[in-house]
Amino acid sequence: MERVDLLVLGAGVAGVYAALAAEERGAKVLLLSKDPLPSGSTPWAQGGVAFPLDEADLEAHLQDTLRAGRGLVEERVARSILEEAPRHLERLLALGLPFHPQPTREGGHSRARVRHLGGDRSGLFLLRELLARLKSPILEGYMAVSLLLEGERVAGALALGPEGVKEVRAGAVLLATGGLGRLFPVTTNPEGATGDGMALAYLAGATLRDLEFVQFHPTALPDGSLVSEACRGEGAILINAQGQRFMPRYDPLAELAPRDVVARAVHRERARTGGVYLDLRPIPHLESRFPTVVAAARALGLDPLKEPVPVAPAAHYAMGGVKTDLQGFTGIPGLYAAGEVASTGFHGANRLASNSLLEGLVMGQRAAEAALQDLTSPKAPEPLPAYLLDPIYLETLRQRMGQAAGVVRRCEDLAEALAFMTALPLKEVVPGLQEGSLGLRPALEAGNLAFLARLLLRMALFREESRGAHFREDFPQAGGAAYHLEAEGPYLHRVPVGV
Ligand SMILES: Cc1cc2nc3c(=O)[nH]c(=O)nc-3n(C[C@H](O)[C@H](O)[C@H](O)COP(=O)(O)OP(=O)(O)OC[C@H]3O[C@@H](n4cnc5c(N)ncnc54)[C@H](O)[C@@H]3O)c2cc1C
Repeated sequence: MERVDLLVLGAGVAGVYAALAAEERGAKVLLLSKDPLPSGSTPWAQGGVAFPLDEADLEAHLQDTLRAGRGLVEERVARSILEEAPRHLERLLALGLPFHPQPTREGGHSRARVRHLGGDRSGLFLLRELLARLKSPILEGYMAVSLLLEGERVAGALALGPEGVKEVRAGAVLLATGGLGRLFPVTTNPEGATGDGMALAYLAGATLRDLEFVQFHPTALPDGSLVSEACRGEGAILINAQGQRFMPRYDPLAELAPRDVVARAVHRERARTGGVYLDLRPIPHLESRFPTVVAAARALGLDPLKEPVPVAPAAHYAMGGVKTDLQGFTGIPGLYAAGEVASTGFHGANRLASNSLLEGLVMGQRAAEAALQDLTSPKAPEPLPAYLLDPIYLETLRQRMGQAAGVVRRCEDLAEALAFMTALPLKEVVPGLQEGSLGLRPALEAGNLAFLARLLLRMALFREESRGAHFREDFPQAGGAAYHLEAEGPYLHRVPVGV
């Protein structure tokens, strides 16, 4: 058994930046990473980090964030994150991070304000640089499987690792476990993105919010590899199987329209003409500017320097997650969350490109500071509801999620998928599971995903409107006033924006 001040679950941008802040304040910190480093979605990020350019641009950045979020952004939260953003850029520059001096423009942004480093390997370079400065230990290959309680306070976790189960006791726990893209059959997310932190938090009594808002990246290669938004920012053009450019018909911003608009247009044109392709040849110095994209295409036998490459939408980013306040507090004493696992209200119904790494930085640091404060003056406890997990066959689940809760959704499909998942007798679908043919980790991950699938389907069914990334064919317009959906124990609540 080990005892630390702060236990950080996850070693992506949010976890590592939080740990840096905590150790600078003299705290004893331990990080767990389910997968070997560099792990999580962070090292896959290509585009970069969006920072307001100056005081005047702060308002424009805020307006772009609000527009993309379709009425569901908490303006107070967005303003506070954006106001703090320049401090973090200064800090990263002072630490010596080699950001390119020229910002780029991405979809939904009215100006070029996305800072990148390492060509199109921004996330990998950012994370490597942060890891190089971290002194606290990271246990790689340890999956947190349960939160430990002392009274009604979260006080550590049990983790499954190469040497069995490890118990870590902590003054506070920070969830930084990333998203849930692996709920879907095609995703840009890494294998470990199985929503573990969301499931753990819910079981400990925290509130999950807005799970139905999953951003589908409009341009993934057939294997889920991402073709960065920045490619369209720098001149790449979408064409259908008839060789026609179609985005100007869907939105005045054409290829630079918000992600949900481009994803639906790509979905429709694929259905209508049989395929959609991205022509990357208009980008100057394509190979040196976007080496990852070129390599990923070549690995599939495609040559983007010579021909347009086939693209399709893929599950990319979870706007919803564990509800937190502006300090990353979940409402459960001792439990904090930051990064993609959390729902602060910054992204609303649709994340603005490159706002997530920024949120990971700002909220990672805030959550670490608040957690350390909490060690000396603990927050009041809240009651903990119980919840039962059922494991379920993962591939069936992903196919069902892709069909029912993908880019375009309908009541019948959502209801049918929900009924299917609720009623599915495990033994008939995965006879092997009982006999131990699946390892313990995949079974635990399947349990987390099965639980999140049901909640996401319930929320998508309940939300009878189209807003941002959530598109209901049977309710194609946005409803009246925007509201969040929050799951607390067995109940779903509508909560107005700004409350
Ligand atoms: C292909 C791709 C491109 C992207 N491009 C951009 C971009 O250009 N700009 C931008 O702002 N955003 C981008 N995003 C989104 C952004 O990368 C993520 O939202 C962000 O990196 C999430 O950071 P995080 O720290 O919250 O989680 P992650 O980076 O996902 O890290 C999660 C960590 O938690 C660990 N973990 C998970 N479960 C457990 C468990 N049970 N126990 C212990 N550890 C666990 C993982 O091993 C990992 O260390 C992109 C995402 C993808 C997939």
